[in-house]
Amino acid sequence: MGQTKTRASPAKKGKMEAAAAAAEPREPTKRDVAAWLKGHDPKDLTIATAVSHSSLQIFHGAKQEGFRTLGIAAGERDVRYYDAFPKAKPDRMLKLKRYSDLVGLAEKLREDNVVLIPHGSLVEYLGPDNYVHIGLPIYGNRGVLHWESDRDLQRKWLTAARIRMPRKVKDAASIKEPVIVKYHGAKGGRGFFIAKTPADFKRHIKPGEPYTIQEFVLGTRYYLHYFHSPLVKDGYKVAGAGNGQLQLLSIDRRDESTIDEMGRLGTHRDLEEIGITPTFVVTGNIPMVIRESLLPEVFRMGEDVVKEAKRRFGGLWGPFCLETVVTDQLEFRVFEISARIVAGTNPFVGGSPYSEMIAPGLSTGRRIAQEIKLAARTGQLGKILS
Ligand code: AMP
Repeated sequence: MGQTKTRASPAKKGKMEAAAAAAEPREPTKRDVAAWLKGHDPKDLTIATAVSHSSLQIFHGAKQEGFRTLGIAAGERDVRYYDAFPKAKPDRMLKLKRYSDLVGLAEKLREDNVVLIPHGSLVEYLGPDNYVHIGLPIYGNRGVLHWESDRDLQRKWLTAARIRMPRKVKDAASIKEPVIVKYHGAKGGRGFFIAKTPADFKRHIKPGEPYTIQEFVLGTRYYLHYFHSPLVKDGYKVAGAGNGQLQLLSIDRRDESTIDEMGRLGTHRDLEEIGITPTFVVTGNIPMVIRESLLPEVFRMGEDVVKEAKRRFGGLWGPFCLETVVTDQLEFRVFEISARIVAGTNPFVGGSPYSEMIAPGLSTGRRIAQEIKLAARTGQLGKILS
């Protein structure tokens, strides 16, 4: 017997679709943001973020620029360490059971003129879905997350911006040179491993977990901290993306446990014989400067990434970071982009060798606060919030 399908009439179908759309959270549009801002007092904004990652720096910068500040903590998180840093301690602390509870509090927080500053841990704790849907104004383009979190889309974006990325290895059987195997969604390099042969790969791979294999680029790592302002029209201008300003605020290198200190115990081969393999877990950050002759390419890359973002998904503004390896041919390979403040900016709460040549003591946290202040003063908040 054939299967009988019950068909809804077009009118009923329309109603059903509308009901489904109402039930399903959707990504806020420019119009939503404009409506939220109608209720905002631009002279009395509160800068809020989750207390982790770069929050000390974000609050410190916000306070320097005269903003009210709100820390968001969930679960059993101990926030007492904030008492030790009075110039960064937020004015108020919102304690939640779970970070996802923030979604239900959005309306109340909007009444309080809250602007959310995203960082990697906030996105992770909230969950990517809640993050892109939450009904709170977020500094930056929240939609970038779709392009950043999907490795294939990220590669499309960056290669269109004439960025060289590590070669992708399609088949583990063809591993001839050292590769790095990355599990999808792995945070902070946890679980990544290096393989030099197909046998190496087989020995380490966890069955059932999706992964990507990349050429392991030999060289030195630099994490470049940019800031793009669509509002300021002087300095290094990004032609083709509204002539906004591109700044290089600082550079760091991550300290990664255990790979960065493994040499103290023996060669990788010695250690592998006794079952110790390197891990890439970020534990801290070290300030860096790069050869001055590489700066033209640093700016060229930042500029083209911003231009391509504008062309593809409405733009990239605020802080972002290109994670690079410089080869002995003095060429950059970019293995990742972070489209918001990175924790590598934390060594520069009091300024960096680069930001010092822009304004004394300028941190990325303070630069964010300055941008929001400028937008509020000139009625342009709708341009930088999403
Ligand atoms: P990621 O999570 O992609 O930022 O990578 C974590 C760490 O793995 C980086 O900080 C680097 O130390 C290392 N890494 C990632 N990709 C590569 C690569 N293609 N070549 C060399 N090292 C890499």
